[in-house]
Amino acid sequence: MKRTLIVVGHGMVAHRLVARLLAEDTGRAWRVLVIGEEPWPAYDRIQLSRCLGGGGAAESLFLDPVALTDSRVEVLTGSRVVGVDRERRVVRTEDGACRPYDALVLATGSRAFVPPVPGWDTAGCFAYRTLRDVEDIRAAATTGGTAVVVGGGLLGLEAANGLDALGMRVHVVELAPRLMPVQLDEPGGLLLAGIIRGRGVDVRCGVAVERVEAGADGRVASVVLTDGSSLDASVVVFAAGVRPRDELAVGAGLAAGPRGGFLVDEWCRTPDPRVWAVGECAAVSGQCHGLVAPGHRMAESVAAQLLGRAAAPFSDPDLSTRLKLLDVQVASFGDAHGRTDGALEFTVEQPPGERYAKLVLSGDGRTLLGGVLVGDTGPFPHLRSLVGRPIPVSADALLRGA
Ligand SMILES: Cc1cc2nc3c(=O)[nH]c(=O)nc-3n(C[C@H](O)[C@H](O)[C@H](O)COP(=O)(O)OP(=O)(O)OC[C@H]3O[C@@H](n4cnc5c(N)ncnc54)[C@H](O)[C@@H]3O)c2cc1C
Repeated sequence: MKRTLIVVGHGMVAHRLVARLLAEDTGRAWRVLVIGEEPWPAYDRIQLSRCLGGGGAAESLFLDPVALTDSRVEVLTGSRVVGVDRERRVVRTEDGACRPYDALVLATGSRAFVPPVPGWDTAGCFAYRTLRDVEDIRAAATTGGTAVVVGGGLLGLEAANGLDALGMRVHVVELAPRLMPVQLDEPGGLLLAGIIRGRGVDVRCGVAVERVEAGADGRVASVVLTDGSSLDASVVVFAAGVRPRDELAVGAGLAAGPRGGFLVDEWCRTPDPRVWAVGECAAVSGQCHGLVAPGHRMAESVAAQLLGRAAAPFSDPDLSTRLKLLDVQVASFGDAHGRTDGALEFTVEQPPGERYAKLVLSGDGRTLLGGVLVGDTGPFPHLRSLVGRPIPVSADALLRGA
């Protein structure tokens, strides 16, 4: 008899899990029910910013529909799971329906973190996570208007790019002293800020939003910063980080990681042998990962486990990232901040103000540990493939040659 897998959430990682399971379940042992809260089936969240600036229909982002057309799969869109009863092995949806499972995979992703500053919920303020957010921001954007993006990380800069493409004047406000503080070191962040300012986007680092003020019409009119300055704004986009969506954990009696997320081991298993968590909601050995590549690896591992196959433990996730938009090339990979004991750093800024590159090497200078590239990411694929391996030529030759 077929067993039933329920997947909660229909995001990028759930999609990978279902596609992999269907492709490899040659014995047709499983039927799958995917329950997703958004009104759309899984779409390419990574490309949302392209949609923000350039338009394009929502459908253009939908992921390969194989998982939707296979008779073994049922997808419920616009349906939120509100409870998991592990004893009865059912999930409960908002409409009160209970659905039984043999195996359950939680793939609920993250929500955008909106700092609780006064006025955060004024009309004209938006989070930046979903297709709905993008549609709402596009509807509120006006050519010649002013937008404030709160957060100068990868998402904030992508949002800024989209708003700029919509004809808005854009300010980016970042609490850290530099842009993309997670990925870049100080020289890299400074160079990036210079390049972005050169493209007409105002960048303010080392300052926070104190409050959002509304105009007489009740809509956002300005943003007051902690340095006392104030920016006019008709649109405010919060891109200040994400938080794992683990709200089902308490009711299900599942533990959360130290910073949230469903606590799982390296095979994405909760202590309940029928329940796994994958993607951004999974705190693997206590740590959540906010990128899609680690999520895909988790999905593939769980698909293998469901089919009774050997699966490698999840370790050493690929956390390399590359800014996709703004016409600015930025990438970071491996131990970009040189946190490994005894690590050496080798940097080149050439020509000044245009290109910066840093390689982080092991103490003996032989092994590549990570790096940062701003202004030219041509060498990125090659360098990333060398992480953890001996470098074939000197660091200087590696950077200049590439
Ligand atoms: C604008 C933008 C750009 C990005 N760019 C990159 C990039 O360049 N590179 C990169 O690696 N990553 C990028 N990311 C991050 C990447 O999109 C995520 O890592 C990836 O989408 C995580 O997939 P997921 O399936 O874990 O979560 P999600 O894609 O968030 O999917 C989770 C789904 O579960 C649903 N859900 C939650 N709770 C419930 C519930 N109780 N019941 C039913 N459904 C529920 C949610 O509504 C959501 O649809 C970007 C993200 C954004 C927003």
